[in-house]
Parts: sequence; structure tokens; C-alpha cells
Amino acid sequence: SIIFLNGAFLAAEEARISPFDRGFTFGEGVYEVCIVVKGKLIDAPAHLARLERSLKACDMAPPPEMANLPALMAELLQKNAIHNGSVYVQVTPGVTPRNFTAQPQGRSTLMMVANTGHFETSPAFTAGVHVQLQPDIRWLHRDIKTTMLMPQVMAKRNALANGLADTLFYDADGLTEGASSNVFMVDTQGSLITRSLSNLLLAGCTRERVLTLAQNAGLTLQERPIRPEELPQAAELFVTSATYLIAPVLSVDGIKINNAVIGPKTRQLQKLYLNYIAA
Ligand code: PLP
Repeated sequence: SIIFLNGAFLAAEEARISPFDRGFTFGEGVYEVCIVVKGKLIDAPAHLARLERSLKACDMAPPPEMANLPALMAELLQKNAIHNGSVYVQVTPGVTPRNFTAQPQGRSTLMMVANTGHFETSPAFTAGVHVQLQPDIRWLHRDIKTTMLMPQVMAKRNALANGLADTLFYDADGLTEGASSNVFMVDTQGSLITRSLSNLLLAGCTRERVLTLAQNAGLTLQERPIRPEELPQAAELFVTSATYLIAPVLSVDGIKINNAVIGPKTRQLQKLYLNYIAA
């Protein structure tokens, strides 16, 4: 495949990154995943705005291409002849000696990869997922979309080993988010509930879009933590992310939600979301 690295499009095999890049030595890095449906990038401005916030929060210099990213993402898709899929965008600080506080003299490293994918017809979207709960062992800046993903890798591998699609994290107040998604519950009154934004979870672009669609559809919204004890009584549960879009959750730790049947509000929001991306 053709990737983008530091100002150039090149074959992935040709790409070279310094072993002294702080992304490699210190695990410093931020990223975004934006999907493309029928040639259109979905919510790209929101993803790029979050990339800027992540960079700022990590005191990382934006790459020189920052202002030009939408055009470069489109060019990358075009060079790979991808109409449906995703673009991965990663920024690391660049090269310094392996010294904790050293400031890079050169440019930040920008890497972009495009992949084919049909997320709106994926089994997760159309049929739903079975998940488990785990304590949220991550750090307390989860609002930054960093490439330090060891806890998520461990949580997702553990889910897979248990025959499940994913892991949802919880803290003392309730569910924080999924390992790579935000969590929504529909209660028996029909209210849509998701945790409010803070340092404890990522401000998902899809979360924001779903809240807007739900509000426009006249649904009742509540932003508060969902407690694990509420789950057996939940009318519906789903997770959102760029690649899940809206994935119905059919069971949590073996407890079925709505008898493991996709609920009406989830279906309604999936339809609204598909209309939104098709518009
Ligand atoms: N929460 C975490 C931890 C994530 O990694 C992601 C996406 O990868 C999300 C939430 C959902 O964010 P978005 O809807 O912007 O993809």
C-alpha cells in the first residue's frame, strides 16, 4: 500500500522511521481514525480538531502538514483507490536523544495509512457484539487519544480469549467507556444515557454525532455514569466509535440485554446515523 510519511507518499516497504523517534523510545504519540464511506470522510473536521487538542495536551508540535491534512487524506485514499475504508493518522514528536525531557529539534513525525473496510455492513453493526467488563486500569488523561494502548490491547485480547468481541471499562462511579468506543444505555423509560465528558474518557466524535442525532429526534438524554448494577435492567445498550458506528451490545459478562435482541432505539439511531453518512 501507499502510505504518507513526513511530506511524501511512498510504498509502505520504503518507509523509514528513526529508532530515536520519541514515539518509539517513550511511546509518545497521538492518533485518529476517520472512516470513509463512498469516498466521503465522515466527521473529518471533528477528528482533526481532536488531533489538535491531543497534540496540545501532550505539548507536541503539530506536523507542518496540519493545515493541509484533509487534502492529504483525500489524496492518500485516491492513491490507494479506496472508496470505503479508513484513514489512520498518527503524530509522534520526532527525534531526540533518549532523554525524558529533550525537545525535538526537527519536525514531528506524521504517518498516515489508508485501509479498505465496510463498517456499516460489519457483523458488529448489523448483528451486535457480546462484551465483558473490566476495571479501568488506564491513566487519568483518557481524553487524550494517545498511542499508549497497552491496557486496551490487553483488554481486547482478554475479551477475545473469552470468546467475546470487546471489553467495557468501569471505575468507582460506573462505566467509563469501551476499550475503543463510548457506551450508551437506553433505560426502561426510554432515556438515552452516556457518561458526561471529563478526563476519564475520550470525547468520541461518534458519541457527539449520536447525541446530536438523538436530540434532533426528540429522545431524552442524560449524561451520567452507567452503573454495572443497572445493566441487567437496561432496555438497550450500544457502543459507538468511528469504526463500530453504532454497535448493539447483546450481552455483558453473560447477562443478556433485551434478551440479546437489538432494541428499537438502537435501530432508530443506526438508521439516523446511516442517513447522516449517506447525506
Ligand atoms: N473511546 C476510546 C478509548 C477510543 O479509542 C475510541 C475510538 O477509537 C472512542 C472512544 C470512540 O471515538 P470516535 O467515536 O471518535 O471513534
